Amino acid sequence: MWRLLFRGMKRFHRRSTGPCIVMATISTSRLILALQSGEIVPYFQPQIELKTGSLSGFEVLARWLHPELGILLPAEFIPLAQGANLLPDVTHEVLGQATVAIAAFCPMPLRLSINISADELLDPELCERLSLIAECSGFPISCLTLELTESTRIENTALARATVHRIRRSGFRLSLDDFGKGYAGLQHLHEIPFDELKIDMRFVQCISEYQRSEDFIAGVIALGEALGIHTVAEGIETHIQANLLTSLQCELGQGFLFGAPVPASSIPALMMERTARKENVIYCANAGQ
Ligand code: C2E
Ligand code: MG
Ligand code: MG
Ligand code: MG
Repeated sequence: MWRLLFRGMKRFHRRSTGPCIVMATISTSRLILALQSGEIVPYFQPQIELKTGSLSGFEVLARWLHPELGILLPAEFIPLAQGANLLPDVTHEVLGQATVAIAAFCPMPLRLSINISADELLDPELCERLSLIAECSGFPISCLTLELTESTRIENTALARATVHRIRRSGFRLSLDDFGKGYAGLQHLHEIPFDELKIDMRFVQCISEYQRSEDFIAGVIALGEALGIHTVAEGIETHIQANLLTSLQCELGQGFLFGAPVPASSIPALMMERTARKENVIYCANAGQ
């Protein structure tokens, strides 16, 4: 209750000032309008190769640029989209805009990771739809990684499993997001040929405080190595965390230390800054699969 009230107050302060307070709400019909009018957009968070500091790609994160409520986070509208069967439309918008932006702002494709919800795996046409969106932007499928969260109910349905395998056969990369947060991560890693696992930020953020967290992460990285898959640490906020992860041979990192998610319009400046600081960019064509 208090959280809701506090959020409401924050939103009120973000709203344009005026004598008349309009109670803006989010609803299915408002979300449909948002999708049609381009208010649902991708933000881009850099992923960094820890050993070299090179930019290795971006995770694409959905934002709703609401004219009255400000920038809404996925937690505030993805459940609504899910309930209204609008997730495919959100994915379409976010992936379509993201691939077009990268094609426009980068000389060659960079790796992009997008988040897919459990429900989307039950759509037998998911793979074809995603392929078509990428093709329309001229973006190579092999440069796209689909992130499934550990809580995704893959193991229970034959349909979801079939979709996962089709996705992989089509050439997309697969990532297991938020590894360690739920209970099914090991089972998923065992059963599905993931290309990457992302260590949940709750472990990353404790790494410099608790030896147990460091040992846990070392174990996860060793597991990734044994399976021949890439490891990414998410939620890196301090140099101490980054240095510890680098010394543990974690390959990639992501977090506010390297950059918060930014809109597409910030990508040219971000790329220019990297060039000025002589920081390398790993384009997808040059990256290992
Ligand atoms: P995720 O995929 O695990 O994404 C990481 C979240 O952590 C993002 O929150 C990101 O902004 C935030 N983050 C990044 N670096 C840091 C850091 O250093 N510290 C902290 N405290 N947080 C950090 P965001 O954007 O609010 O997204 C939340 C979740 O919503 C995502 O978790 C993902 O599961 C889901 N999501 C985001 N975009 C989409 C989408 O287009 N479709 C679907 N189905 N889900 C999405
Ligand atoms: Mg993710
Ligand atoms: Mg995550
Ligand atoms: Mg998460």
